[in-house]
Amino acid sequence: MRKKVIVLPGDGIGPEIVLQATSVLHTIAEKFGHEFDVTEKLIGDIALETTNCSLPEQTITACKQADAVLLGAVGGPVGENKWKDHPTGDRPEKGLLKIRQELELYSNLRPTILYNELKDASPLKSEIIGDNLDIMIVRELTSGIYFGKKTKIVGDADKDTYAIDEMYYNKYEIRRILKTAFKIAQGRKKNLTVVDKANVLETSRLWREVSAEVAKDFEDVKLTHLYVDNAAMQLIVNPKQFDVLVTTNMFGDILSDEASMITGSIGMLPSASLGDTTLGLYEPIHGSAPDIAGQDKANPLATILSVAMMLRHSFSLEEEALCVEKAVKEVLQLGYRTLDIYTDKDKLVGTTKMGDLVCKCIENM
Ligand code: NAD
Repeated sequence: MRKKVIVLPGDGIGPEIVLQATSVLHTIAEKFGHEFDVTEKLIGDIALETTNCSLPEQTITACKQADAVLLGAVGGPVGENKWKDHPTGDRPEKGLLKIRQELELYSNLRPTILYNELKDASPLKSEIIGDNLDIMIVRELTSGIYFGKKTKIVGDADKDTYAIDEMYYNKYEIRRILKTAFKIAQGRKKNLTVVDKANVLETSRLWREVSAEVAKDFEDVKLTHLYVDNAAMQLIVNPKQFDVLVTTNMFGDILSDEASMITGSIGMLPSASLGDTTLGLYEPIHGSAPDIAGQDKANPLATILSVAMMLRHSFSLEEEALCVEKAVKEVLQLGYRTLDIYTDKDKLVGTTKMGDLVCKCIENM
């Protein structure tokens, strides 16, 4: 198989972790006889520095012509306001929002996987987590309250000063994200939970209506509905009950961050953003970690696991995806840890060594 991959290293630890992830991609290519043409393009702070735009046209065009995009992270140190006087108001993070929109990536997949080897890193008790916790959160990414009309009216009195954020969903937008979630559930334990607030929100009631319609095409999947407040509690008291969760943009934003904390380290979690075609954007869920950039301290595993998602979702290479995931597990079983997941029982390694270890494991499989 021959595929075109655009790599957007971005800022901070982005270039270091992406370098390890592309090494893994090349190792997979060699082992399985594929060809991945990897081309780097600019995004974020580095793009603003060199082209005065956080997402240059050249990057957009290259991504649209690619089979998949791998992103590191964007942004400078928190609190830094380097681009406050930029004439168009551009900022590094705008590049990321724009590329998701340009590629029409409406579903965001965030697996929450806790490897048994890292159970100690979770803030939850071992008996609550169980073994091999594996939840897939599917978040709607391009509609809902974040994209609805925003209004602020300033009046004379407090009562006349108000703000409105509209939450809008049409059936088409709901149906396509639900279909994605049902299909994913079909490939897993066939258990789908739609999270909403149907006791108060009209949009949630429309989600329920559409989920009943879509469910007819997926009769092998067990469909459950859960209010978002209850879902937030259940993730903490009994996360093992979940297989696939699907929800709106805002609920998904909050729940996926909550769920990610169950795994203990932000450096372990990959993500995929998908649309109607096989073109997807793959990235770790963490940011550019400027505090550890350039020090060989960053954990590259979230980005490496994002490559596994790319192989599975954009290239339909399940065996290759599993090979990457198995290699990561094996390296953890051997006791190797970057600083973020290290305890004094472990072998401490840097970013490069961790990437090398995963590649070695793949070669030896
Ligand atoms: P962050 O995720 O970059 O870092 C939070 C903490 O986690 C830091 O202590 C960092 O050292 C650590 N960390 C993050 N990734 C790690 C890894 N792979 N290995 C080891 N430790 C890791 O979040 P932040 O500090 O709030 O944000 C820094 C910058 O990143 C900001 O400019 C922010 O806007 C940006 N950001 C970008 C994205 C993205 O590109 N998708 C996401 C979140 C934040």
